[in-house]
Amino acid sequence: MARRVTGPEIERLIQLLARLPGLGPRSARRAALQLVKRRDQLLAPLTDAMRTVHDHVRVCSVCGNVDTADPCTVCTDPTRDASVIVVVEDVADLWALERAGAVNARYHVLGGVLSPLSGIGPDDLDIAGLVERAADPVVKEVILAVNATVDGQTTAHYVTDRLDGLGVKVTRLAHGVPVGGELDYLDEGTLTAAIRSRTPF
Ligand SMILES: [Zn+2]
Repeated sequence: MARRVTGPEIERLIQLLARLPGLGPRSARRAALQLVKRRDQLLAPLTDAMRTVHDHVRVCSVCGNVDTADPCTVCTDPTRDASVIVVVEDVADLWALERAGAVNARYHVLGGVLSPLSGIGPDDLDIAGLVERAADPVVKEVILAVNATVDGQTTAHYVTDRLDGLGVKVTRLAHGVPVGGELDYLDEGTLTAAIRSRTPF
């Protein structure tokens, strides 16, 4: 058993940091040390930022994004194409698509996927909210950007059924060879999907 090098206060900071994704105990220790060493330049502004976010964070009542404003920054951005809604499972997926700058649209966060095995049904996800939004005549297309997992695809089929009759085009992400990917390294499922969703050259 290693002997303690700091008192309970800094130890608690380390333990909390270690709960963050991507930070194990070792990285948490290094992060805590940096914070303590750079008290004025890093620890103080971080503490302020965390307090502000803690006090003001909310879930967007329109799309499910997290922000300090409701409706969120994405929903109130007038430069976005309001005719397209990109449906994602999680806020992390929304942020990933935004990082890529792939689409200038609005989003809808389902909050998960249908999973009969885990007891997650349609009422556990924000599908009703999506149907309501898609019924707005302004909306022309719903892009289902759910994960290429069994549950993700089940959810996509279910959502497609629910949107049926609203007059919106429902599309999904292409499945196929990743950019920079080598065929030899791909699994059979990805290769088969890539062949099936081939496009004219
Ligand atoms: Zn929003």
